[in-house]
Amino acid sequence: MNAPMHSPMNASTNANPASGPTVPCPTCRRPTVYRRDNPFRPFCGERCKQIDMGAWAAEDYRVEAPPPKAEDAPD
Ligand SMILES: [Zn+2]
Repeated sequence: MNAPMHSPMNASTNANPASGPTVPCPTCRRPTVYRRDNPFRPFCGERCKQIDMGAWAAEDYRVEAPPPKAEDAPD
């Protein structure tokens, strides 16, 4: 018996990268692959995600202080 040492069925199956729907990154507008294994989706990376989070956080922190009621101040 002359068995082949390596079978052609065992070819290295490298998942082709960037194979999936791409969405524009909300921060930098660059197309990024929307994949389940992308923890930063729909962002292109952690940085852009942090930037976006900081953006809405800044908006939320902008609390308008009510003006003091000067006209209703006691005499
Ligand atoms: Zn980005």
